[in-house]
Amino acid sequence: MKSFTQRLRDEVVLGDGGYLIELERRGYVDSGSGRERVGTGRGSGQFTPEVAIENPAALRQLHSEFLDAGAQVLQALTFFGTREKLNRAGYGSQTEQINETAVKLAKEVAGDRALVAGSVSRTQLVEREGPESLGKARDHIAEQIRLLKDAGVDFLILETFFHLAEMEVALDAAAASGLPAVATMSFRPLVTQCSDGHTPAECARVMAEHGAAAVGANCEQDPRRMLPLLREMRAAVKIPLAAQPAAFQTTDECHSFTRLPAFPDDLETIQISRREFEEFGKVAKSEGIGYLGGCCGCNAAYIRALARGVAAAG
Ligand SMILES: [Zn+2]
Repeated sequence: MKSFTQRLRDEVVLGDGGYLIELERRGYVDSGSGRERVGTGRGSGQFTPEVAIENPAALRQLHSEFLDAGAQVLQALTFFGTREKLNRAGYGSQTEQINETAVKLAKEVAGDRALVAGSVSRTQLVEREGPESLGKARDHIAEQIRLLKDAGVDFLILETFFHLAEMEVALDAAAASGLPAVATMSFRPLVTQCSDGHTPAECARVMAEHGAAAVGANCEQDPRRMLPLLREMRAAVKIPLAAQPAAFQTTDECHSFTRLPAFPDDLETIQISRREFEEFGKVAKSEGIGYLGGCCGCNAAYIRALARGVAAAG
């Protein structure tokens, strides 16, 4: 099988996603909304990946669905899998087991049909404790990346970072591991700047300078809302672009679905159709976006639509 970086050079690479919201809807992931107002930064903010050890069959099933839909990459469900985040959700002592099992499951399903990526997200320390916690965040992210490398992932997807400073720390840890890394920021509440005040173009340049194999955005916006920020990034760097939009409608006043009242228990009221992902596949390919996947709200139907769009773009 061709390496990830070789594929990125040669063709549009189709990813998968999103796992946590889909598994939450199926009853295997805890949103935390029964105990706290999710998204306040004060509670556990759950949405953690213990499903890998508690209900492996459910996770294996979703991997198979994405693979059959055309995904060329399966993401191990290691999102929010740093010891920091797992500690707060009560799973800290199982950090090794959750990360190792998640990679093992993805590799079993992928076989020789897909590459396996380790997913790494923000620790939430910077949001909770401020920039002085970056050193601690670095240690937690570096620990998770070591676990993912030992478990045998082909590359990393660093995603849903709100602060560029934390993304830089994560990219440095990825570089130290020797694994290629896709780096995607999430912009909220508006697409004009990330949480520490950098424009999409600045984020793209800095992530490229820190050695990312591809840079872009994921989560928070539907494809149409995300496209302008991707164009800004496209103009700022020469390396491949990556996009994993959400399948939820945002508003002109608030460009991030996790800041809308529908999150997390009324998301069905803002679900967009898979057709928008087919259209996005066409546009994204023609605009030179090299890595395409889905995020929150997407299931296999959306990835299949994305694949159709990419194929239609020729
Ligand atoms: Zn998402």
